Amino acid sequence: MDLLEKIVSLSKRRGFVFPSSDIYGGLGATYDYGPLGVELKRNVKERWWREMVYRHDNIEGLDAAILMHPTVWKASGHVDAFHDPMIDDKASKRRYRADDLIERHIEKLETSGKGKQARDVRTRFVAALHSDDMPKELHRIILDEEIRGPDSGAFDWTEVRQFNLMFETHAGAVVDDETKIYLRPETAQGIFVNFRLAQETARQQVPFGIAQIGKAFRNEIVARRFIFRMREFEQMEMQYFVCPGTQMEHFEEWRAKRMQWHIDNGVRPERLRWHEHEKLAHYADAAFDVQYDFPMGWQEIEGIHSRTDFDLKRHQEFSGKKMEYFDPHRKEKYIPYVVETSAGLDRTILMLLCEAYEEEHIEGEERVVMKFHPEVAPVKAAVFPLVKRDGMPETAQALAADLRGHFNAFYDDSGSIGKRYRRMDEAGTPFCITVDGETMETGSVTIRDRDSMSQERIPKDNAADYLKDRMRTWSRSA
Ligand code: ATP
Repeated sequence: MDLLEKIVSLSKRRGFVFPSSDIYGGLGATYDYGPLGVELKRNVKERWWREMVYRHDNIEGLDAAILMHPTVWKASGHVDAFHDPMIDDKASKRRYRADDLIERHIEKLETSGKGKQARDVRTRFVAALHSDDMPKELHRIILDEEIRGPDSGAFDWTEVRQFNLMFETHAGAVVDDETKIYLRPETAQGIFVNFRLAQETARQQVPFGIAQIGKAFRNEIVARRFIFRMREFEQMEMQYFVCPGTQMEHFEEWRAKRMQWHIDNGVRPERLRWHEHEKLAHYADAAFDVQYDFPMGWQEIEGIHSRTDFDLKRHQEFSGKKMEYFDPHRKEKYIPYVVETSAGLDRTILMLLCEAYEEEHIEGEERVVMKFHPEVAPVKAAVFPLVKRDGMPETAQALAADLRGHFNAFYDDSGSIGKRYRRMDEAGTPFCITVDGETMETGSVTIRDRDSMSQERIPKDNAADYLKDRMRTWSRSA
């Protein structure tokens, strides 16, 4: 089993992530978060919100509806141009993104020492992305480079075709073109259309940002790799409105801050890197992705984009409403430029699952342990009575109840202590507290550390403060 398969299996077995509608055989590329997964997800959202909205007094939150006026998607360009170039392998009947296949081919050439060929293909690839007939040019590269189907090894391709990714539905009882609406494919447009209302009601001045966490929907054609590419997923986006001409300095500021945030969540810096876009959208003047070294290779988890005034200008044009801002310092009106940070919540979760997963061999036994940063761990502490008598269960339950006033704590009295530790290791619980005979005499408990498995005794009344301190100062052991 490769790492991803192990994570998929652990996720179902332990309640991180389940296939959606599992009893009916699941629904493609759609997943549900189980009891542990939902805690992990909430912790990540909470950390993002705290970092973006609470730590910046010039960033406001927003929660826009998933359904929006259909003209929004004409203005944003999604109706005309939200396509992916797809190609089918006739042998395996699998469908791939053509640009993805070529990027992987280039990476393979680079890592196998064929630097010159890699550079030549890259030059051709960039030209293809900018050409008027992008599908045809991508197809030619795949044929000329003899890129084979990743699953079949065959060289038997269809043409490259464009597919629109938006989910359509209808508002009200009548199903016709007039009632057609879309499930939003990104949260960003909810921010753009509310730009004036949010700015005026919160009395913000440029530069300022609007942040939002919410669901987005894309009818992904190739939807594999667990929660990496889903049809219903969640984004954490922030649009930062700046004075035209100052966008690059804000772009660099946000690049640094966003990379640091992932590191602060416990991701090893060497497993993160920047990837610059080969092709900038016609309105963008800079675009970088944060990539993580997933089991299936380096892949995007977040994009940082400098989008100029494209979106606000288009909404001004399509709605007829002014999107200008009067800058009291410069005493002039302008449509602000936008730097956006756009992170996938589910991809962040997958990254944290991959980053945390470890197998260790302890005294002839295998231990699977999820070494989450304690601040994102679903359960922070588990409390066990050593045995189910002598008042130990009552004391342990009272301690768990006390800890729940501070963070998510769990009580468990079934099975041997060793088994209880292993269950908590798989759940990624950083601390296990045992109430034993000595607790009943002196009031001290043992605290067992998930990562080092070492134990120490502390007074039970100090447990909450002690654990909070340990969580704050946690760092990943090698
Ligand atoms: P990709 O090239 O992988 O399809 P994208 O460039 O289209 O991603 P953006 O439109 O920039 O992605 O969206 C911002 C973020 O939303 C991405 O970095 C990713 O983390 C997340 N995201 C996008 N599509 C999906 C999806 N289908 N499933 C899960 N997360 C997604």
